[in-house]
Amino acid sequence: MALIVAAGSGQRFGGLPKQYRPLGGKPVARRAVEAFAGHAAVDAVTLVIDDAHRDLYGSALAGFGLPPPVTGGATRQESVRRGLESLVPLAPDTVLIHDAARPLVSAALIERVVAALHGHDAVLPVRPVVDTLKRVADATVLGEVAREGVARAQTPQGFRFTAILEAHRALAGGSFTDDAAVAAAAGIAVHAVAGEEANLKITLPEDLAEAERRLGAARRWRTGTGFDVHRLVPGRRLLLCGVEVPFERGLDGHSDADVALHAITDAILGTIPAGDIGSHFPPSDPRWKDADSARFLVHAGRLLAAAGGTLELVDVTILCERPKLAPHRARMRERVARILGIGLDQVGVKATTTEGLGFTGRGEGIAAQAAVTAAFGP
Ligand code: MG
Repeated sequence: MALIVAAGSGQRFGGLPKQYRPLGGKPVARRAVEAFAGHAAVDAVTLVIDDAHRDLYGSALAGFGLPPPVTGGATRQESVRRGLESLVPLAPDTVLIHDAARPLVSAALIERVVAALHGHDAVLPVRPVVDTLKRVADATVLGEVAREGVARAQTPQGFRFTAILEAHRALAGGSFTDDAAVAAAAGIAVHAVAGEEANLKITLPEDLAEAERRLGAARRWRTGTGFDVHRLVPGRRLLLCGVEVPFERGLDGHSDADVALHAITDAILGTIPAGDIGSHFPPSDPRWKDADSARFLVHAGRLLAAAGGTLELVDVTILCERPKLAPHRARMRERVARILGIGLDQVGVKATTTEGLGFTGRGEGIAAQAAVTAAFGP
């Protein structure tokens, strides 16, 4: 069970609160939720939010199927207590409490906290203090603060559910800024595990810039290409990018012979790389007779997702003397975007003749070539 606290007003940012700011194309809070929702040791995720942010929450977490968010209180401590009370009917054994403003929490850190909960009632990830600490007032250095035995606290903090619930109930109305402090004040021993530098807390605008740099440095792009040709014959429908194009002939093949979708499918497989369309859907297999080629594309997209990749761009060029494809291009883009579940701005469909040259120029067949860029990593 994970409780993610996103109730802060984020006044230091002005305008859009920090937890709903985009980070690498996704809202900060969504990244935090993805880290927990996608973790095998976490069975459910609940958010605590500011009631004024319900619309922001709705658009940031659309499609996650989370339980309704809990309305936070005036302080972080009160927000967490309300979140814990909402979990009482579920009676979880343990709970991980995490700040939505730490979107780069890794699966390894979540695993470390969960593992330590097997032998402890409370677990806190910490980082050492490396800078020398000074006491400063009015731009005057007043003295040193001993660094020995001092550590920086992070989240997620893990607890036996009943232990932290009782601690929060007993100390309600306080002003503790993290839950390990609530636990300690209630007499619960808190065990420390190693935190992560990358698990930074977004507090100031420059933290968001640092998180963007870390994400960009950890991301890799791969490009795959695909090429396909099918023969034009009478008595077949002409399907290109999943769109039926009126013409006196159609493409011949074992499946529906959608040459453009075949080229895109191969290009997606090329990013993993995972062979070609023929190795996944052999033409000798009767199951693929007259098959809708959208199935091949969906399959390739799932393989890419399973390999940790997401589509950035799909670009296909159809080589065809006739018919004219320009009138159908918008529908083709829409169809490909819909099949793959990506944005229209991530799909390019182009068409060209070959100036009457070669087999495409003589109208014997249609060729298609595709390039696909996929992103891997956070
Ligand atoms: Mg083919």
